[in-house]
Amino acid sequence: MVRSDRLLRYLWAAPYTVLGLALGAVGVLLGATLRRHQGVFEIYGGLVGRGLSRLPPVLGFSAMTLGHVILAVDRSSLDALRMHEHVHVRQYEQWGLLFVPLYLLSSLLQLMRGRNPYRENHFERQAYAEVDAHRRLVRDSIRG
Ligand SMILES: [Zn+2]
Repeated sequence: MVRSDRLLRYLWAAPYTVLGLALGAVGVLLGATLRRHQGVFEIYGGLVGRGLSRLPPVLGFSAMTLGHVILAVDRSSLDALRMHEHVHVRQYEQWGLLFVPLYLLSSLLQLMRGRNPYRENHFERQAYAEVDAHRRLVRDSIRG
């Protein structure tokens, strides 16, 4: 049962995973590194990564997720953002093909309200909140 649930989650997110792998293949041809980690393909670095890191902040990004693929400008960005991007992986698993339209709709609604379309996006807020909760849990468990 658990195995079929996992297969369904991969299939449900597969259209975006295929898109991510297609973009990632271009990156790999231009020197990016591809690896599989925690059930997700991670593609980082190379010429595309260096180009993206030079974009102005409003256009640029350090990492993005498409289905079960995380694209990052470099290894350090990937390491810093992995937990956040894995929340997006779970969102793709939950919403499947609907995820990107819902994400864009959430950004549009925030923009129409005069708010930041990235920071106030429902899915970004969920990702930041989950990472913050995890870090608080780890910090509190270290303190004892
Ligand atoms: Zn995010």
